[in-house]
Amino acid sequence: MTAITHHISDDLLDAFVTGNLSHPFAVVVAAHLSLCDTCRARAEAAEMLGGALLDRIAPTSVSAGARDRLLDALDRAPLPRPPIQRSGIFPAPVMQALGGQPPKWRMLGGGIRQQILSADAEGSLRLLYIPPGRAVPEHSHGGLELTLVLQGSFSDSEGRFGRGDVETAHDEIDHQPIAGSEAPCICLAATDAPLRFRAAIPRLLQPLFRI
Ligand SMILES: [Zn+2]
Repeated sequence: MTAITHHISDDLLDAFVTGNLSHPFAVVVAAHLSLCDTCRARAEAAEMLGGALLDRIAPTSVSAGARDRLLDALDRAPLPRPPIQRSGIFPAPVMQALGGQPPKWRMLGGGIRQQILSADAEGSLRLLYIPPGRAVPEHSHGGLELTLVLQGSFSDSEGRFGRGDVETAHDEIDHQPIAGSEAPCICLAATDAPLRFRAAIPRLLQPLFRI
């Protein structure tokens, strides 16, 4: 297995450890942490730093309201930390989102398959299966999209992403991921806004992706 080279940003990691990430993004971060020793160590350091900061706050130095808000924020528990995953395609947080069952794929055309794991006002979480060498229709984002590779790889204008790598795509990125030729690419993708496809043909796919 090649080493993970694309990690979780500091902002997202901080939001995760303080319990301030929406469910779809929190599952992607938890799944990455179960595959990535580097980010697990970063998350633990961020948690310890948060605790140390709280210890240093003298009771008289902040208003009661501010201290309560901080304690409230710390009480909002992040997802339980998953154990490090050494085998299997789906890390524990993904298995949990799947309800412990294998994926129930829906065909999207071109051999691409999808299973929506959750979709609500917070955003969407889905698994994607892309045959070797196949492109996902070019799209851009109304918000943030986090994509974690669970099997195989994909490449786009931002580089190559293998198992454990996370791509963080903001709304300015127009990208067309292409699955690597070595194996079908299975990804976990979270968005906080519908995807926008550019060309006419993908309009057929859009009602399926737009969730
Ligand atoms: Zn990492």
